[in-house]
Amino acid sequence: MQNGPNPPSFIGNNQNLLLLIEQLDLALSLHIGWLKVFHLNLVCGKAPDGTSDVAVNAHECCAFGKWFYHEGRAALDAFEATGSIERVHKEMHDAARDLLRGKRDEAALCGEGYARFIDLAISFKDQVRALQNDFIKRVCTVDQLTGAWNRHEMYHRLAQEAERTRRKGGSCTLVMMDIDYFKRVNDDFGHDAGDRVLQQLIQHCVERLRTYDAVFRYGGEEFLLCLPGSTTTEAAGLVGRLQESIRGRAFDIGDGRSTHITVSFGIATLAKGKEMEDTLLEADHALLCAKAEGRDRYCIWGG
Ligand code: GH3
Ligand code: MG
Ligand code: MG
Repeated sequence: MQNGPNPPSFIGNNQNLLLLIEQLDLALSLHIGWLKVFHLNLVCGKAPDGTSDVAVNAHECCAFGKWFYHEGRAALDAFEATGSIERVHKEMHDAARDLLRGKRDEAALCGEGYARFIDLAISFKDQVRALQNDFIKRVCTVDQLTGAWNRHEMYHRLAQEAERTRRKGGSCTLVMMDIDYFKRVNDDFGHDAGDRVLQQLIQHCVERLRTYDAVFRYGGEEFLLCLPGSTTTEAAGLVGRLQESIRGRAFDIGDGRSTHITVSFGIATLAKGKEMEDTLLEADHALLCAKAEGRDRYCIWGG
């Protein structure tokens, strides 16, 4: 998983992630089964000449390899998560092949080679587990429809940000964002079209924010932007540009059609001596002001 504050560019893929977590579980238990048979052969039996373990492409023939090279690699790539699993897995099979060949030729195992094989087998298992944990974390923290962080993650991150601001000083600006008359998009074009607009809007925002800014789904079609280190004036500049770009953009609603939307924003800044919870409320109140003043605008709390 990327470490920055914004989720990766995949959208609506939590179902795929859950499937991948299951597939990795299965692949790992098949791998453990393979390890058992491999050890039985190595320790108790003859080196099994002719089995796929001594083949040059042994890493493609085991259960994990079959899954990985058939569909796993493409699925993991889609989540930018292939990492070094492929390399470690192949190196482990190379080490296994060397052990089997050595056993055939020498009868005694090479201690160094065996230690290397074990290290690689453990490293492979650890990497698969780490990837699973990463995917589980994504499922728990990312909004499935839009790819924004979910509200649970929002409270966690805001608490961290409040602590950072307390320790280091400076400011952090929160921006509450709500689509104007969004109900009409659903009413006029259908719920699926509304979903598409939400997805594109968040992608649009993420592309225009800094990597350490974050977008959270606050609820429905309301989102919170967290801009660490930004003053109110800097945030207002960014929001103004964002607003204009949204106003000028055509949102694809399927079947070759598109629509336009406008968005309202409420801005409030956390500074020394203020609570994050209060700043969140202030951003929400400022958003209500923007709505009351006619929409397609931003209001600054206390501004
Ligand atoms: P306002 O300018 O006052 O914000 O008007 P609005 O129509 O945007 O506000 P309202 O609260 O009346 O309606 C919000 C709509 O957002 C209604 C709800 O169905 C829609 N909505 C919320 N979440 C989703 C979603 O995930 N997908 C879709 N398609 N619509 C959603
Ligand atoms: Mg709205
Ligand atoms: Mg709303």
